Amino acid sequence: MKTFLKNSQSKSDFDLRAQFQGLRRDVAYLDNAATTQMCQSAIDAMNAYITGGRSNVGRGLYPIAEETMKKYDAARSTVANFVGVDAGRCVFTKSVTEGLNAIAFGLRERLQAGDEILVSAFEHHANLLPWRRIAKERGAIVKTMPMLADFTLNLDRAKAMMNERTKIVAVTMVSNVLGTVLPIADLADAAHRVGALIVVDAAQAAAHLPIDVVDLGVDALVFGSHKCYGPAGIAAMILSLDLIDSMEPMIVGGGMVDHVTTDGATWRQGIEKFEGGSPNVEAAIGFAAALSLIAPPPYEGGGRGEVLRQRLVSDLQSISGVTVFDPPGAIGIVSFTIDGMHPHDVADMLGARGVCVRAGNHCAAPLVEKLSTTGTLRASLAIYTDERDIEALVSNLKEIVKKAKA
Ligand code: PMP
Repeated sequence: MKTFLKNSQSKSDFDLRAQFQGLRRDVAYLDNAATTQMCQSAIDAMNAYITGGRSNVGRGLYPIAEETMKKYDAARSTVANFVGVDAGRCVFTKSVTEGLNAIAFGLRERLQAGDEILVSAFEHHANLLPWRRIAKERGAIVKTMPMLADFTLNLDRAKAMMNERTKIVAVTMVSNVLGTVLPIADLADAAHRVGALIVVDAAQAAAHLPIDVVDLGVDALVFGSHKCYGPAGIAAMILSLDLIDSMEPMIVGGGMVDHVTTDGATWRQGIEKFEGGSPNVEAAIGFAAALSLIAPPPYEGGGRGEVLRQRLVSDLQSISGVTVFDPPGAIGIVSFTIDGMHPHDVADMLGARGVCVRAGNHCAAPLVEKLSTTGTLRASLAIYTDERDIEALVSNLKEIVKKAKA
């Protein structure tokens, strides 16, 4: 399974597609940045757990409960190891959105009036709105690290914006609109020089790039299962040991509490403090199984993913009236617009022809408004994407544009 990004159409590609029952639909599925199809190993692992007898975790002393606990712990280790840390730094949340909200909530008391939070011009609303909300509550200011004309981050400007008022740098690793890869290690280094924390949204990065949280030097990083070939409803919030000790939990209740008195409570130590309520054990098991399929993560540089993306970019550029946004070094995602045509109409027509793409502001309105007033069309690739998917998009688009001009 490690050969899938080789620049060839070998049997391994065919076998890989067979891992995804969802691909049996006769469509070109190019909305992988929203959600990927689920791999068979995730389905099988969840099925085995559920049909083998399930239980809650941490509460039962009977054999099924002990087995469940073991499976949940093993899943956590696999997910944590995928990004280079051990299980003691990996908290399960229901989504990337929830993880980023939990981090913003947990850090809010560190902020004072006049403090600054830096986000980038590329943020998904999930890594923007939680920061805006805590900034408003605490009298802090959210500033935006800008984009260059080639749709990459203006790193010099970003570094120059960091100073002793900067408390948090919250940044995406890969743009869900443009596929731009942000220089996380450089940003982490610059943030730490001024004593700020760096929080990374790796929702789009995890299925495409190798991530080592320790090498990157980040304090917190969140990524989810449903964009990595696993089930929805689960994500990993990776925290530094310092944040695990010091951050306030957003969710309080059963499972995270140590001691409850008539008028107070103390929290459990370690990651358990952040997992109030009954966890989604089956999804954790499926998440781990899916990550095992793509570990080590496929590196795009020079691999099949990059070749396919480049082909898509040049084929789209050859259609008259199409503008492609193509940042240098981008991965997995291509946004484009068509003169005189609304992206929603085009996506609708493509959908009717069996081509699944996304249209709109992609939950990143501040960025997309800079690209187009009506939003963009977005095609996004996955490990199972092949030339046929690209051809289906391009040939149908050519016909749609031709008809519209006729
Ligand atoms: N950040 C980015 C960059 C995303 O692309 C997404 C999903 N579109 C999210 C955060 C939110 O992820 P989720 O919907 O799984 O919470």
